[in-house]
Amino acid sequence: MSEIFSKAAPVLQIIEEAGYEAYFVGGSIRDMLLGRTISDVDIATSATPAEIKEIFPKTVDVGIEHGTVMVLHHNEAYEITTFRSESGYSDYRRPDQVTYIRSLYKDLMRRDFTMNAMAMDKDRNLSDPFDGRKAIEERIIRTVGSPDERFKEDALRMMRAIRFVSQLTFSLDDAAFKSLERNGQLLQRIAVERVFAEFEKLLKGEGKKEALKMLLHSGLYAFLPGFENKQQGLSKLIALPIEKVTEPAGIWSLMLYSFGEQDTEAFLRRWKMPVKLIKEIKRIIVNLHTGVVPSSSNEKLFRSGLEEALITEKIISVLNDSDPGQAEERVRQAYKMLAIKAVSELAVTGNDLMKWSGRKPGPWIKEDLDRIIKAVLEHQVMNNKAAIKEWLVSWNQT
Ligand code: ATP
Ligand code: MG
Repeated sequence: MSEIFSKAAPVLQIIEEAGYEAYFVGGSIRDMLLGRTISDVDIATSATPAEIKEIFPKTVDVGIEHGTVMVLHHNEAYEITTFRSESGYSDYRRPDQVTYIRSLYKDLMRRDFTMNAMAMDKDRNLSDPFDGRKAIEERIIRTVGSPDERFKEDALRMMRAIRFVSQLTFSLDDAAFKSLERNGQLLQRIAVERVFAEFEKLLKGEGKKEALKMLLHSGLYAFLPGFENKQQGLSKLIALPIEKVTEPAGIWSLMLYSFGEQDTEAFLRRWKMPVKLIKEIKRIIVNLHTGVVPSSSNEKLFRSGLEEALITEKIISVLNDSDPGQAEERVRQAYKMLAIKAVSELAVTGNDLMKWSGRKPGPWIKEDLDRIIKAVLEHQVMNNKAAIKEWLVSWNQT
């Protein structure tokens, strides 16, 4: 069993010796039972944050407002959260009031799904009041208590349910699915950044096709930014072998392409995703319309870079239902043949151009460099200083 628990067990012991309870909780227990890799453990305790800070000499207040203190122990950081109950949820996303409690059972009760509502003590005894273990064996996502109530308390849980369908390739309990059909509109009240974070995890998951089907069939999709009238587009997307595309930027591109979305920029901005991702998706979509290899120029391949070109060609093969392996090979070959792979590999610099021409710095430098790059890539001139200088002279004469 996972080493990560053995390493953290002394932290639990120290809390117990001070007279409180402490457990591993949440996703790490679920992932342990599933045999998945565990990146970090969450610890829950009956001690209040103030009491935890008395016990451990080195702590950091990372999330003190919701009862989480970071403890540094033997050069490792552990997030320790006080048992709490939540009440109020008048805004459908954040509890009005968080109350520290001393009962593990009640702390587990506020958690979203039964598979996430288990605890394990330092001696590896499992507390499983909601049959989370059984749900994991059956590979089913069930809410702790009534799905209607739990989704109304925090509408993000609907997205979490579907992203776990994708991430764990579990199915969703019938009652929870029916509740999605009734409560989808509540998702509109959740901050888009949080919805985006779950959606990204969904897109990275192995079961993304099933998850997207569930979004479609439950009607939840209609409450995602920009998805209002995308029923047909989503059906089209799901009909494709999308499991072949594993990069989120690739899936977003394929999605927008399937939607026939005209204004990509506006659509992506509504999701408040990082600008870098928006730019990447936009480049891929432009390339999708023309292809990178071999239909177009070396310059295009150079500007895309290997990774983006690979994603683009993979998407094209998905759209054409052709062999992605062949497309990949074609891109790799063409890329290998490029005379230069980066601007820094060019044999001349802007300084050279100024020296040769005696002109002052200005936008002309980039224009000339771009022209040279293109000529080098298209084998009109060799990538060495003398050849380029000569080519420039003749080019300037014409
Ligand atoms: P991951 O592997 O993606 O981190 P996780 O289950 O650990 O999955 P987290 O978001 O890290 O997910 O949350 C940790 C735990 O906190 C969950 O396992 C669950 O018990 C509880 N939790 C998280 N978000 C919610 C929520 N919106 N409502 C109720 N409980 C939640
Ligand atoms: Mg987690």
